[in-house]
Amino acid sequence: MIDLHCHVDLFPKPREVIDGAIVKGVFVVSVTTTPSAWPGTSGLAQCVPEIETALGLHPQLALERISELGIFDLHLPKVTWVGEVGLDGSPELRPFWSTQVKVFEHILRSCSSAGGRILSIHSRRAALPVLDCLKNHPDAGVPVLHWFSGTTRDLELALGCGCWFSVGSPMLTSKKGRELVARIPRSRILTETDAPFTEINGRPSYPWDVVLAEHLLGEIWGVSDEEVRALVAENLWKLQGSLRTGS
Ligand code: MN
Repeated sequence: MIDLHCHVDLFPKPREVIDGAIVKGVFVVSVTTTPSAWPGTSGLAQCVPEIETALGLHPQLALERISELGIFDLHLPKVTWVGEVGLDGSPELRPFWSTQVKVFEHILRSCSSAGGRILSIHSRRAALPVLDCLKNHPDAGVPVLHWFSGTTRDLELALGCGCWFSVGSPMLTSKKGRELVARIPRSRILTETDAPFTEINGRPSYPWDVVLAEHLLGEIWGVSDEEVRALVAENLWKLQGSLRTGS
């Protein structure tokens, strides 16, 4: 199982989440929302190859944490994965839009200088601006759009930009989300939970709840849950390889 976007450090007991993921055999990309959270979060999963701790600065915190860009650059050489980063065009975050762009551009520039990273990207109400930034920094690495909610036209453009997509059960249960997923080539899809911010049966989700996303993908694709799991695992392998080869 693969959970490509989970906020392990935002659970009340992160250690238990990591232990559970190991026992259940889930590969987790443990994303962070501030650069200063990275050392502690990555320390939770030291010597655990199945848990990758991504270095992030969430667009929602861009104004508050722009001063941490130096910390971001300091830790960047130690990571393969970057996230959660991106832009958010929601009305309440519009007042500091220019700061969001400044932060995201800085991150992409740093990733380019560092030789590229795999990026877990937030693009709510900001699909086109995110793609513009990515176009400005073609060497930043491999973009993975998490919980994509743009239009089908935005999706076509994102695919043209070489984006990958991580999809979870909320996206896979909404009509619009399912329509988008059906248009994404199977070779560009990975699974995620965005836990603990998503719920399953009224309780916060855990990385292993990604089984639900696997099942829903299987319904869309008309294949078994096992086939979905195998395909997504193959995709992860290719995603990691594409960073190494630059293809
Ligand atoms: Mn998230």
